[in-house]
Amino acid sequence: MSRPAQALIKLANIRNNFAVAKKLSGGASVMAVIKAKAYGHGAVAVARALPEADAFGVTCLAEALELREAGITNPIVLLGGVFDVSEWRDVEHFDLQMVIHSQQQLDTFLAHRPDQAERQFVVWLKLDSGMHRLGFSPSAFSRARRLLIDSGKVQELVLMSHFACADEYSSSLTDDQLALFAGTSKGLGQPLSMANSAALITCPDSHFDWVRPGIMLYGANPLTKQALTEDISLLPAMTLRSRLVAVRDIPGGDSVGYGEQWRAPGAARIGTVAIGYGDGYPRHAANGTPVLIGDKRATLAGRVSMDYISVDLSRLPEVQIGDDVVLWGEGLPVEEVAGMSGTIAYELLTGVRSRASIRYVDD
Ligand SMILES: *Cc1c(COP(=O)(O)O)cnc(C)c1O
Repeated sequence: MSRPAQALIKLANIRNNFAVAKKLSGGASVMAVIKAKAYGHGAVAVARALPEADAFGVTCLAEALELREAGITNPIVLLGGVFDVSEWRDVEHFDLQMVIHSQQQLDTFLAHRPDQAERQFVVWLKLDSGMHRLGFSPSAFSRARRLLIDSGKVQELVLMSHFACADEYSSSLTDDQLALFAGTSKGLGQPLSMANSAALITCPDSHFDWVRPGIMLYGANPLTKQALTEDISLLPAMTLRSRLVAVRDIPGGDSVGYGEQWRAPGAARIGTVAIGYGDGYPRHAANGTPVLIGDKRATLAGRVSMDYISVDLSRLPEVQIGDDVVLWGEGLPVEEVAGMSGTIAYELLTGVRSRASIRYVDD
């Protein structure tokens, strides 16, 4: 038997989630963000499942080229932009759209001589509205905008910014960022873009012309402290699963796993599941983190190792070697496992390793 660790991806659920995003957007164009291998789901497969996406967002050139080489023809936006003049050749040749977030990127763009004379580009100019990671300050933003328009090389300019705290309802930083972006960009005649998944749900005023959902397409709740209302029905796209490969009974007081980090309170039945941090299961998952066996929950007992985890089956006498175990996905939200592991759904989904095979189902 080959290793049973597998990420099962339901493309129909991604399509459902895209439709939810589209509906929430209130008529804005939708950029489906599929960076980092579509948050671990496979960028080409996800792009093929969403032909109606108005654009795809990726981080870097390599991610964009993978899509173009697979025959994806939708507009593709490089959210991180490019960094040297030579890369502009590829941008031109593969017909990519570019975020410009720094003076250095702006300089390389202005210096680039397109192979085809008269060639123009779609550029997304980024304002730092308060997250202080990427983007121009408001005064530099206005200067950069002017330089781009005057360059004659811009076919269309989209003005954008990014939220730092949209995953929390009523963050004052979100209000401040939105006010600064609107004050700097509105009414200039260019399309605007600000909302990620969380803002798509919490902040309708930020939808403008383009929304940029990522995490919600994969069915995870983008809000950190709140359940979604029923009308926002996101379906988990990835179910990470494996099998029980060993079961044993141990006496009360014995410990399980490396470092004796879990001790049986009484006689216990311990199951070993073929999944570990070498597959992308989080090493920091705490004792008590749930797994799903059939429709019942068992809990993590002891440290996660590279290839295996142990679970307490004391209350599940009927389960046996060979039974399927769901680590997250349908029936067990990845956010819950992330919360028990001191991280977020984004990191767990993007962290699934290639040792766990990916299987797509499309129905
Ligand atoms: C990743 C990213 C997004 C998508 O964010 P989610 O929280 O996954 O919806 C949107 N915009 C930019 C610029 C990004 O980098």
